[in-house]
Amino acid sequence: MTLHRAIAIDGPAASGKSTLARILSRRLDLIMVNSGEMYRAVTWKLLQLGVDPHDRAAVAAALREIDLQCGVEDFNSTVRVDGVFPGDALRSEAVNAHVSAISAVPEVRERLVSLQRDYLKLGDVVMEGRDIGSVVFPETPYKIYMDADPGVRSARREEAGEVDSVLARDRADSGRSTAPLKIADGAAILDTSGHTIESGAEAALEILERQGFSMPIR
Ligand code: C5P
Repeated sequence: MTLHRAIAIDGPAASGKSTLARILSRRLDLIMVNSGEMYRAVTWKLLQLGVDPHDRAAVAAALREIDLQCGVEDFNSTVRVDGVFPGDALRSEAVNAHVSAISAVPEVRERLVSLQRDYLKLGDVVMEGRDIGSVVFPETPYKIYMDADPGVRSARREEAGEVDSVLARDRADSGRSTAPLKIADGAAILDTSGHTIESGAEAALEILERQGFSMPIR
């Protein structure tokens, strides 16, 4: 039993989840948890070990041998794999290309969902991902599903200098049988295509207020 609160932010790649979560973390004094980084960290390690991302049994077996340490630094989640912070490697082309396959493996999800729930022991959190409102924290009343035009989303990744086939990842993430990307029950939809960062954040704060989130007094 915990008294801490969770804000769940889900949506497809490059829909603005991390940007919004960062702003909410600062304004509302929440620990920001980037669950995608956890899936990316596992993918990075398994690729290093030469595991075939499409071989479920091999992925599950290799996962059992990996040490994962999730923590918090300066209100941000951190993940260490066998003692190493992967850093920029988390957003490499190879990780972008294989993370959806690794994330579809139920054993991977089971282990990471448990680590994600543990964050609530540390304080109030804003967690972003694909299944936060549907699987990780289905009971939370504070849920936002973010979206944006596919063209806008692809352009955002290109502008960031990343090689990332966001639409292919979305198809894989939405089509998998375990914890697919979907609009969770009770989630409010926020389309950021026509928003600036600031106006998107204001819209999100209004949604959270409607959902009953009590804002800190400044
Ligand atoms: O959020 P980000 O784009 O960094 O996530 C990378 C990948 O991790 C996603 O494409 C998806 O395959 C996986 N993921 C997931 N569930 C989450 C967060 C991320 O399956 N909650």
